[in-house]
Amino acid sequence: MIKIMIDAGHYGKRYNKGVVEGYYESEVMWKLHLLLKEALLSYGFEVLTTREDAAKNVDVYDRGIMSKGCDLFVSLHSNSVSGSPSTQRVVVIEPVNGKGQKVAKLIGDAVVKTMALKGNFYLQTTTKKTSKGKDYYGVIRGATDVGTIGLIIEHSFHSNEEACKWLLNKDNLKRLAEAEAGAIAEYFGVSKPESDEDVLKYSDLKEGTLVSIKDGAVYYNGKAIPESILKDNWYVAKKPTSDRVVIDKNESLKRSIDSAIDVKYLKLAEKKKVEEEKPAVKVEIQAEDASVETVQSSGSTALQSLLESIKKLLQAIVELFK
Ligand SMILES: [Zn+2]
Repeated sequence: MIKIMIDAGHYGKRYNKGVVEGYYESEVMWKLHLLLKEALLSYGFEVLTTREDAAKNVDVYDRGIMSKGCDLFVSLHSNSVSGSPSTQRVVVIEPVNGKGQKVAKLIGDAVVKTMALKGNFYLQTTTKKTSKGKDYYGVIRGATDVGTIGLIIEHSFHSNEEACKWLLNKDNLKRLAEAEAGAIAEYFGVSKPESDEDVLKYSDLKEGTLVSIKDGAVYYNGKAIPESILKDNWYVAKKPTSDRVVIDKNESLKRSIDSAIDVKYLKLAEKKKVEEEKPAVKVEIQAEDASVETVQSSGSTALQSLLESIKKLLQAIVELFK
């Protein structure tokens, strides 16, 4: 199991005051580290923190050492600079051995994208070393000494008003934690396990249930599903009696595929807003064996002539019974 250690950068409630009333780096980063722990747990990572108690201090080098056996160590901070209130970039400090480059960039990009501050806002990834070429920062040096990738993440500057205000919002912190966990998951190639509510059973479906198709799905017969079909929502054709579910009409009722798919690849879908009429309608007829016939026609004329044919057919039937 992949193990991550999270470190709230400073101890105590009121360390490093920000420019906005009520902001303290120690307190806000403590909150963020708990949210990040929760978000990482939802991906199935094993998550450790450097301490249980916000008031407790552990020497920075020792925090890094504590990450022995972990795959990643992140220390959470907000930055400060005097005399430059507009400075607000995100800084991620990575180990001098170069092993943290990729994950530093992924997390940093996620922070920049989520905070999305208005000014001169960008990501700087950097290293800092001692004259002997070792990592300057204790947490990173400690992590490196036990073979863990150690990062310091500076979530913009609490000496910047916009950043400070942003970080004081609990919902923002939650989004930040989710984004960082997502970046870490991407780095390790991990995706969120589905919760029980997301797993659909065939008995949940009936005729006319609107479903969407999950990424990576194939037809029941194992054949590939074209991209244009994956993107659409589909109505279940009839109440399934097994995991084999037949889907037919699409949400706009303009396409019909009459194809079988395993229920494990389906999700309940919400109705989309009505799309604007497109100039051309592509009608695809999908047989059970997944062979595709495509009829390209110019939208409403094709539909009209189809309706016209049906009308004629009905009239013929009526004539027959006269
Ligand atoms: Zn700090």
